[in-house]
Amino acid sequence: MGETRYVFVTGGVASSLGKGIISASLAKLLQSRGYKVTIQKLDPYLNVDPGTLNPYEHGECYVTEDGAETDLDLGHYERFLNVPTSQANNVTTGRIYQNVINKERKGDYLGKTVQIIPHITDEIKRNIKLLGTKHHFDVVITEIGGTVGDIESLPYIEAVRQMKWELGHRALVIHLTLVPFLNASGELKTKPTQHSVKALLETGVQPDVLVLRTEKDLSADVRKKVALFCNVDIKAVIQSIDVSTIYEVPVKMQEEGLDEIVLTKLQLPINEKPDLKKWKAFLTKLKNAKKTVTVGLVGKYVELTDSYKSIIEALIHAATYNDYKINIKLIQSEKLFEENVATELASVDGILVAPGFGHRGINGKIVAVKHARENNIPFFGICLGMQCAVIEFAQNVVKLQGANSREMDYATPYPVIDLMEDQKNITDMGGTMRLGAYDCEVSKNSNTYKAYNATHVRERHRHRYEFNNEYLDAFIEKGMKPSGKNPDTGLVEIVEIPTHKWFVGVQFHPEYSSTVLNPHPLFMAFVNAAIKEKESKTSK
Ligand code: GLN
Repeated sequence: MGETRYVFVTGGVASSLGKGIISASLAKLLQSRGYKVTIQKLDPYLNVDPGTLNPYEHGECYVTEDGAETDLDLGHYERFLNVPTSQANNVTTGRIYQNVINKERKGDYLGKTVQIIPHITDEIKRNIKLLGTKHHFDVVITEIGGTVGDIESLPYIEAVRQMKWELGHRALVIHLTLVPFLNASGELKTKPTQHSVKALLETGVQPDVLVLRTEKDLSADVRKKVALFCNVDIKAVIQSIDVSTIYEVPVKMQEEGLDEIVLTKLQLPINEKPDLKKWKAFLTKLKNAKKTVTVGLVGKYVELTDSYKSIIEALIHAATYNDYKINIKLIQSEKLFEENVATELASVDGILVAPGFGHRGINGKIVAVKHARENNIPFFGICLGMQCAVIEFAQNVVKLQGANSREMDYATPYPVIDLMEDQKNITDMGGTMRLGAYDCEVSKNSNTYKAYNATHVRERHRHRYEFNNEYLDAFIEKGMKPSGKNPDTGLVEIVEIPTHKWFVGVQFHPEYSSTVLNPHPLFMAFVNAAIKEKESKTSK
């Protein structure tokens, strides 16, 4: 296709307007026109990556196949585009500074004063261009975290200004703002957008396209006004109206002509309008499902649903393809005890115990596993959720009193979940877990095999602790089977209880690879088991 084009997405007026969804939607539309597209997120904080952040800060940490711990927006990119992202798709200010400082120590800038301009901005530009030059994308969409005017995002905006100057029509800026509706006057207000564009202009950047988030349709007059005050073509004033599901945004953006205006400005051929057939078929199913299945999601970060973004989306994908709506009951594991578990979980058709770190809320998770196991309720344990299933089984079935994970009780007499040998001497917390995709051999005659219909799979990991194989025989004897193992290390990746309806614990994170067009087989099977559970309850 020739020279890579660069699209920058900035935000103004307020945070949380959905830059990630707009970026992913545009990418989807360009991809369906045959372009090779990727999306990158630049985060203005000083952590080198979000791996060390508590989910309450920015939501879940998303893990790529190549083992990068990244922002949750990369999850949207993969779910929309159905193609994997990598370390290069998420860069933080921390990483930029770390690279520059490392170069300074090596002597790369010998004799020079190292400064934000040009050294930091050059490093930012290098990271943006890397995807175009090294991976040969036709279009690289770069989402700049934060809001215009933030001190933290200034070097990024400056890099954008320089790239626009260098690349001419090959670079373009989309600015996303809010047009609030004031009830008192019954009007949509464009002033915040005008101010936001002014702030961008002060940094030397003229936006080419404006995407306006709104609750109500924008009239031609409102669009004209925005175009006039902000120096953009009227056709480049795009409305992004509130919709019931994020998966509708690409369709809305196509109706508004976002992809066409972007291609025109980038001087790329427009060709035929894609029909988005499969995407729309998913949307129709999503909207038309009549029956509802309820899944209890047991975790300790439930107050912020972004902490479980990929799990929630994977459940939505799976329910939709099972022709059901999903009702996710969020259950705070800190508030779950033997005494209230039966009432708390009475309405659910399946129980999912979530990943997590540290001791808080662990007992509630174990109680939830016990309830699922004893009452033959479909159970899905992910990462720490799987480890809790192992601990519960050790304590209550294998009768190993005091059995635990070394993470929760260092002095446990039965460390059924333990640190791997190569993790024992690690002292740094950042980027040192078992991360990224690993092979797994699946045993036939298991629910997992039935779901995957394959004996060899690859799934993404993010954890330090593992099933302790010293106890494997005792577990097998009592009825918990390893149905997935790492072929290289022998580590147990999946456990099941074959006498149970559907009881699966996975050490990896299947939620990261569920996409709109490819729902994850294990989520499909779990939701299907929950649906059967619901049907059997109602027929009683
Ligand atoms: N805390 C556990 C470990 O480090 C599980 C991690 C997770 O659930 N992602 O092994």
